[in-house]
Amino acid sequence: MAIIPYLKPQLYVQSFQDIPYDDFKKQGIKTLFFDLDNTVMSYDEKIISTENLLFLDQLKKDFKVVIVSNSGYKRVSHACIKAGYDFIHSAKKPFKSGYKRALKKASAQVNTSLFIGDQLMTDIFGAARMNITSILVKPLKQRSDHFFTRTNRKIERMLLKKMNKKYPKLLNHSLIAYGREIHGLFKDFK
Ligand SMILES: [Mg+2]
Repeated sequence: MAIIPYLKPQLYVQSFQDIPYDDFKKQGIKTLFFDLDNTVMSYDEKIISTENLLFLDQLKKDFKVVIVSNSGYKRVSHACIKAGYDFIHSAKKPFKSGYKRALKKASAQVNTSLFIGDQLMTDIFGAARMNITSILVKPLKQRSDHFFTRTNRKIERMLLKKMNKKYPKLLNHSLIAYGREIHGLFKDFK
């Protein structure tokens, strides 16, 4: 399947807190784009948890941080404005328009940006189309996915199996390179 390389993230980690940000900073990454739902906040939450906000606030010291969500203005603005985060709502990922709006908002360049999200067919695929390096995280709470996302997840599981065959070292490479013990990362694949 020719589409598989477009769905390959740079890393696949348990949560956005497990990303080796220092390494990416050294590599020249200046801007972090985060998906909202199930990446930094679950669908059944209306605001980003204190724990996740504290973590994101730390990242703000080293990076520009922008939330890029397919959800509508009401939900995204409610989560982001009070917390002090720039955002793009109704981003229509994997189409390019939302990524372009995000790059403009952050005055960012493609090659110094990183996109972090929980869905292959929206976050990761769209980032690849834009040549933005991406990181796939496990969804915070899969049961809270909306109907369309749940349908996407079924296709996603099939694609992840194919990807695991094509890139069997994706997980191992991440673990070896960063020396982290992340449990259960590929258990969906067995
Ligand atoms: Mg998401």
